[in-house]
Amino acid sequence: MHIILVGPPGAGKGTQAAKLVEEFEVPHIATGDIFRSAIKNKTPLGKKAKQFIDQGKLVPDEVTIGIVRERLAEDDCQKGFILDGFPRTIAQADALQDILADLDIELDAVLNIKVSEEEVVRRLSGRRVCECGASYHIEFNPPEEDNACDGCGAELYQREDDQPETIKERVAVYKEQTSPLISYYQDLNLLKEIEGEAGFEEVFNNIKQALC
Ligand code: ADP
Ligand code: AMP
Repeated sequence: MHIILVGPPGAGKGTQAAKLVEEFEVPHIATGDIFRSAIKNKTPLGKKAKQFIDQGKLVPDEVTIGIVRERLAEDDCQKGFILDGFPRTIAQADALQDILADLDIELDAVLNIKVSEEEVVRRLSGRRVCECGASYHIEFNPPEEDNACDGCGAELYQREDDQPETIKERVAVYKEQTSPLISYYQDLNLLKEIEGEAGFEEVFNNIKQALC
């Protein structure tokens, strides 16, 4: 199953990707996670990406496309993937078409998780994450113990780009640069609209129905 998840920041792409990975046993490829790991490890890629991420801007296409090209060429992607947060521009989508053609991979579906701007702000401002990769929401999915990860016990923190000013910028960037992908994939007959403003399980059921 080769799937792309699109939708505004905070729509629930990472949350639903985790469920899809379990269901289909395919890798979850999230460009945001790749950048954050590079930042944590202070690699040259991390240093470059950080200046854009901290401002809520997109990392330049040439950097992002190269990373995805390398990742998709790995063996585990032949049987499927959940691509989350890529593509985010028309140039990235065009490049992805070329990459997939080279690898002889066909996309099965592009899922557009639809959530209002108000809900995006609510979800992003309440998101708390753990170094281990787990993600929570202070209201909608709180950890058992205040501010501690259920899995590893480490202290949860708020992503720097989940601060109000950066959220505003990321939403603006989504509208301007990423939302055109919806008609792009509609034209390719790949788009499936997912009602994302419901509980975690209900959204997952909407996705499973769309994939039938
Ligand atoms: P994205 O990957 O699209 O940026 P996330 O999956 O990280 O979004 O979700 C953003 C925040 O919203 C997280 O705190 C997550 O727990 C919460 N969230 C995700 N899906 C739902 C949902 N269906 N209902 C309520 N909160 C949700
Ligand atoms: P995310 O974890 O998907 O919310 O991404 C966090 C940040 O990483 C974004 O705000 C961008 O700065 C950067 N990023 C992630 N994916 C991409 C992409 N496909 N193109 C450009 N920048 C990206």
